[in-house]
Amino acid sequence: MSKKGERWIRETQEYQNTDDPYLSDKAPSGEALCPKCHAVFRDKRWLVDEAFYEEFKDTDFVPKILCPGCRKVNERYAMGYVYLSGPFFEKHRDEIMRLIHNEYERARENNPLDQIITMYEEDGRTIIETTTDHLAQRLGRAVHRAYKGNLSFRWSDGDKLVRIYWER
Ligand SMILES: [Zn+2]
Repeated sequence: MSKKGERWIRETQEYQNTDDPYLSDKAPSGEALCPKCHAVFRDKRWLVDEAFYEEFKDTDFVPKILCPGCRKVNERYAMGYVYLSGPFFEKHRDEIMRLIHNEYERARENNPLDQIITMYEEDGRTIIETTTDHLAQRLGRAVHRAYKGNLSFRWSDGDKLVRIYWER
């Protein structure tokens, strides 16, 4: 069971980026607002700007379209999966899920397209599906940083999605 070498390589890598089909298609030409999560499209990227959203949400000046994050949530298009398991996890579940939640809030401030699609229990594990590979990596790294344990990353063929396993 020596996957240690591989794990080490994976963990020291910088964040990887997958090809994201939702980013290239239907990119707005100017500014836009997402009516669901209040993300704002400006300067060719989606960001959080609640003041801008409030200013234009009731006007016709800025078109309203669902951001790629919300579209992925609607269509359940996951690019990351986080699997949490183990006796330590079971015992400290509430605390660990709080940490996950806080990390998620921070990630969304940087990038509103980082969204959690759903969370559920399956085969004794807690599974979190995310709209970006980046968010899944970030959540896995945060848990590992706080609680150690075993963290491993598995990329699908063509790096279309990542599966993050944390166990302790
Ligand atoms: Zn949105």
